Amino acid sequence: MITDNPVCVTGASGFIAAHIVRELLSRGYKVKGTVRKNPWEYPFLLNLPGAHERLKLEKADLLEKGAFDKVISGCEYVLHTASPFEINVTDPQTDLVDPAVNGTENVLESCLKAGSVRRVVLTSSIAAITDEPENSKVYTEKDWNTMSSLDRNPYYYSKTLAERAAWDFIMHKKPGFDLVAINPPLVIGPSLGSSLNTSKLMIRDIMTGLYPAIMDMYWGFTDVRDVAKIHRLAMETETASGRYLCTAGTMHMRELVELIKSSGYTKYPLPKISLTGKAGTAVIKMLSFTKPRNIGKYIRTQVGRIMNCDVTKLKNDFGISFIPLNTSVIETVEDLRKWGHLKTV
Ligand code: NAP
Repeated sequence: MITDNPVCVTGASGFIAAHIVRELLSRGYKVKGTVRKNPWEYPFLLNLPGAHERLKLEKADLLEKGAFDKVISGCEYVLHTASPFEINVTDPQTDLVDPAVNGTENVLESCLKAGSVRRVVLTSSIAAITDEPENSKVYTEKDWNTMSSLDRNPYYYSKTLAERAAWDFIMHKKPGFDLVAINPPLVIGPSLGSSLNTSKLMIRDIMTGLYPAIMDMYWGFTDVRDVAKIHRLAMETETASGRYLCTAGTMHMRELVELIKSSGYTKYPLPKISLTGKAGTAVIKMLSFTKPRNIGKYIRTQVGRIMNCDVTKLKNDFGISFIPLNTSVIETVEDLRKWGHLKTV
């Protein structure tokens, strides 16, 4: 343990943040988590081992200036994960960019005011690295997404602007704390609560017939338990700095479907036909125009693309070995079933 003071985790109710809270409590830390509803509405957090003695939940909204002042006061470490994660929004500026960017600045302003903060760990994303990977390239922490906009992959845009805003804050305000950014791909694994976040929704959609065909989609995955551990290590490792890619591995949609089927989940409407290769991808791109605008754009920028990530920096600095992808996928499917998010045919 590196601090006796509480560690602040923003958006503690979220899929990833809940695991961060659990990870910190399991290591003996005191935790102050921020939420949007009344604390008693989060029994899955309040019942975690150690929570009764060491977890305090407080209300704070990203869009309310000064909302984080009180909760961050006295903390040495702040793990800022709260940010909306949605692909199909009606107003990208107010639904995504404002809470992501203004929220990050709000949290950093509160850290500055507190005077006690030594490090902020920011949950960024591979969305801030690229939104249309080049298949021949190996991406590193030096890469920045320069293509997204309000009109093109706005979630990616919100994450890019939020991370940039955080680095600009550090550069211009030179606060007494440093910043470490974590850039995960799609995060999967078991949920501590019953709600369904966007990355798990993607697996749910594959299993509930939303995708009629297997297409050339490649997904980079990391298990949520590893992402939580990486946040803790980014906080604890004094020499940690800059950004960290943390992709555990990549799977083609066909591999994913085969894995699910071969693990006994055969009663679900998984895609049967294939629309792959150049011709299949052309058809998928055409069909994508029948989808809601943001979903269509997302499909067109992702289909046929694979994102190769170099995670040497993460491995060197934190010495982490990842939970195998097959385990994460199957535990995700089982968890979706357990919480009642799947229906059989
Ligand atoms: P999630 O379950 O949807 O969690 C998002 C969290 O942000 C929730 O706690 C939510 O609170 C909070 N939030 C949203 N708008 C807010 C606002 N205006 N004020 C205060 N809190 C607000 O998503 P997640 O998958 O855990 O994602 C958490 C973080 O990881 C996000 O920054 C996301 O961009 C990043 N990330 C996720 C993935 C992934 O695949 N899951 C990959 C890379 C990066 P409520 O519970 O009240 O809605």
